[in-house]
Amino acid sequence: MAGLRPEDWLKTTKRGLWCAPADLHIDPVRAVDRAVVTHGHADHARPGNRRVLATPETLAIMRARYGDAAARQAQALAYGEAVDLGDVTVRLVPAGHVLGSAQVVLEHAGQRIVVSGDYKRRRDPTCPAFEPVACDVFVTEATFALPVFRHPDDAGEIASLLASVALFPERAHLVGAYGLGKAQRTIRLIREAGWDRPLYLHGALQALCDLYAAHGIGLGPLEPAAGRERADFAGEIVLAPPGSLTDRWSRRLPDPVTAMASGWMRVRQRAKQRGVELPLIISDHADWDELTATLEDVGAPEVWVTHGREEAPVHWAGQRGIRARALSLIGREDEDE
Ligand SMILES: [Zn+2]
Ligand SMILES: [Zn+2]
Repeated sequence: MAGLRPEDWLKTTKRGLWCAPADLHIDPVRAVDRAVVTHGHADHARPGNRRVLATPETLAIMRARYGDAAARQAQALAYGEAVDLGDVTVRLVPAGHVLGSAQVVLEHAGQRIVVSGDYKRRRDPTCPAFEPVACDVFVTEATFALPVFRHPDDAGEIASLLASVALFPERAHLVGAYGLGKAQRTIRLIREAGWDRPLYLHGALQALCDLYAAHGIGLGPLEPAAGRERADFAGEIVLAPPGSLTDRWSRRLPDPVTAMASGWMRVRQRAKQRGVELPLIISDHADWDELTATLEDVGAPEVWVTHGREEAPVHWAGQRGIRARALSLIGREDEDE
C-alpha cells in the first residue's frame, strides 16, 4: 500500500490510541469493544471493556483489581505470541516496567509500529527485561524525559534505607510504595540486600504481593501490620501505599522514619510535600539516558512521544534526523509515579 502513512492506521482518538484496521484501542481511557492493555496500572488498564487482549499476568492483575469488570472476554497473549486481527498482526514484548508489562508490536501493510506503554531499561527482579524491537515508528512514554532525571542505582537507595534502620533501632521505618510493581520490586531489592526478617504490610498491599508470589516472584516472609503492638515495630520495616504515609494509619508506628520509593523523589519539593524524610529514588520509568538509549536501540526513523515531558525527546530526536512529534493523550495521570 504505497503512500500509506503510519498515522493513517494508528490514530489518536478521545479514547486513546486506536489501530483502525484492527478496530483495536491501546490502553483506552473509556470502555471500548476491543482493547489491548499494556499493563495493570490504573491509568492504562481500566474496567468495562468488552474484549481485552493482554499478557496472562496483566489479565490476572486486572481480575484482582476489577473482578468481572476486568473484561467481558479476556484473551491472554504470552510474550512473543502473535495474533491476527483483520490484517494487523499483534504481538506483546516485555517492557520491563511491572509484572506482565508489555510493549504492543503492530504490523500492517509492511509497516511496524511499537507502542512502548510504560517502560524502563534497568534490571528489575520482578519482571523480564525490556526488549528493543526494530520498527518504523516507536511510541514512547516520557514520564522522566528531561536531562535532569538520571535515576541512581537502586541498590544504593536500599542501602541507605538499611543504614537508617541500623542507625535508629528504636524507630519503625515506614516505606511508601505503590501497590502494583513498586512495592514488590522494593521488597525484592530489600531481600537482595540481605534482609530476611519479616516485612510488615499495610492491608492494601497484600493482595498484589500474593499475586506476585503466585507468579513465582518470591517476596520472603510478609506479615500484616494490623493487630500488633506499637513496640513490635521498633527496628522493623513497614510498607504502605503512599497515601497512608501521613494519615491516621501511620500513628500505630513508634516515631516512624518516613521513606518513599518513587522516581519523583529526585524532586526535593515532592518529597517535602509528602512529608518524606528519607526519599528513595526508585523508578519504574526510563530516565533520560534510558529513554535516549532506547530511541537509538529501536532505530525508528519516526518517534511519537506521549505521557509526560514530550518537548525534550522531540527536540533530541529532531536533532538526530528522527521525525518526532508529541502525541497528546488524555487521562494520563500516572499511577505508579
Ligand atoms: Zn505504569
Ligand atoms: Zn503510565
